[in-house]
Amino acid sequence: MSHNAAGDAGISARTLRVKMVLLGSCGVGKSSLATRFVKGEFVNIQQTVGCAYHSHVVSVNGVSLRFEIWDTAGQEKYHSVTPLYYRGAHAALVVYDVSNKESFRRAQFWLKELEKQYIPDSTVVWLVGNKADLTHDRQVSSQEGQNLAEDRGLGFMETSALSGDHVTQLLQTIAYRVHELTWDQCS
Ligand code: GDP
Repeated sequence: MSHNAAGDAGISARTLRVKMVLLGSCGVGKSSLATRFVKGEFVNIQQTVGCAYHSHVVSVNGVSLRFEIWDTAGQEKYHSVTPLYYRGAHAALVVYDVSNKESFRRAQFWLKELEKQYIPDSTVVWLVGNKADLTHDRQVSSQEGQNLAEDRGLGFMETSALSGDHVTQLLQTIAYRVHELTWDQCS
């Protein structure tokens, strides 16, 4: 379990706790994205072992949202995660690798898993195509990602945990949406 003390700097009396879960196939870059969110850097992670939790503060309209980011830590290999994982989540990112068509297919499985958990309508669900830097190896077009997200009524963004492209923008967008939709629950 990792906890980023630096990320907690600036916590005020108006800090809201936001639980965000990361879903998707093994190897799509969930841990790398979580590390980018928290540390602002890319760390070449060999394997996620037991590092299931990260914490980071994002500010929205003068209100601090402390994101508690739950990474599956390899549990996705068993094609399920416990209900505890989803319980109380304000946001869920379903991540795939744009250079891996199978991971995109699996993203649809994870979206169904989320539906089965009967998460509230106020949960912000975002489809994320990671590894957008791998332009020559791309197997999933931006349009395919966009279409899937539109069909399901989800937000969509492509990111690169490696280059950092759109990573901060993604977290900030999620923070705004959570702030809009779950203010009453959090306060
Ligand atoms: P997880 O199993 O979903 O948590 O995936 P990891 O974060 O462990 O990443 C799996 C592999 O993909 C690692 O070798 C990472 O270095 C690599 N990786 C993660 N994100 C990116 C990215 O945005 N671009 C590229 N090129 N590689 C990435």
